Amino acid sequence: YEAKQKRSGWSIFSERNTQLGHQRLRLRADLESALSERQIKFHYQPKVELNSGDIIGVEALARWYHPTDGILAPVHFIDLIEQSGRIQEFGRYVIQSAIQQLALWKTQGLSTPIAINLSPYNLLDPDLLEFTLALLKQYSIDTKQLEIELIESSTSINIDYIASRLDDFKQAGITLAIDDFGTGMSSLSYISNIKVNNIKIDRSFICDIEDGANKKAIVCAAITLATSFNCNAIAEGIETKTQADTLIKMGCLYGQGYYYAKPMPTDEIEALLLSYASLPI
Ligand code: C2E
Ligand code: MG
Ligand code: MG
Ligand code: MG
Repeated sequence: YEAKQKRSGWSIFSERNTQLGHQRLRLRADLESALSERQIKFHYQPKVELNSGDIIGVEALARWYHPTDGILAPVHFIDLIEQSGRIQEFGRYVIQSAIQQLALWKTQGLSTPIAINLSPYNLLDPDLLEFTLALLKQYSIDTKQLEIELIESSTSINIDYIASRLDDFKQAGITLAIDDFGTGMSSLSYISNIKVNNIKIDRSFICDIEDGANKKAIVCAAITLATSFNCNAIAEGIETKTQADTLIKMGCLYGQGYYYAKPMPTDEIEALLLSYASLPI
């Protein structure tokens, strides 16, 4: 059977590709209702202080609760949204969802900040800041409780333009972070042009920090860079205690990853935040 499978390997592969192609076409057609029926929800992953395990905030990660395909991760739909010309609408949806969540948590006595992910395309929306500030005001939420993580998408949008838009958000008191630091071409331009509060060191550098001297050197450089730019380094994708201990020794104060907690639906994160504010270290 194995030999047969090997021989027909190519056709299995292309059949799978075709299936994926069909799924993408279907998902593209379903986007309309995804947005209008609010099928896209958010799972929340805690960010912790590495020394104490205290939860310092949560990151909102989009999940599409698809009526037939189950819960889909962003890799299946964010680029479809970008291509569909609905990324600005989606950006507003993400912001509104976060602020409404903050308002709900406020009534429960919680004041944990929420970080959202925005792509540079979202910043092309000229009224995004006004939109955001109006909502914060409407729900009486402090600007400090909202954090924007800027993700790099393959974009040719002028970096000076993005920098000045982000600066407006910063001036308004909203916390800024560069996401996936170290992977994109423009990480260094961003950090030198925009006074961000946090840099998030990409998971790819954390996952083999123990056995790769090169990866360790990059993490070390990123922590040093963050310090000299007066911002916090946050390590992404911490999966083991060894990784956490190594990062602590290197002077990294904050992190996020499966070792502490996976992204979880609203009811679970709420229960966690209400029960205690720190995770085992
Ligand atoms: P990101 O912002 O860098 O988010 C971190 C990703 O790493 C998340 O994947 C998270 O589930 C995953 N992760 C966290 N800890 C660990 C770990 O210890 N090990 C491993 N293997 N993975 C870990 P997710 O949720 O699939 O999101 C992927 C990307 O999609 C995000 O990367 C972000 O760039 C984008 N994204 C998510 N939500 C939104 C959104 O609302 N808007 C936009 N524009 N992009 C979003
Ligand atoms: Mg992020
Ligand atoms: Mg990231
Ligand atoms: Mg990422």
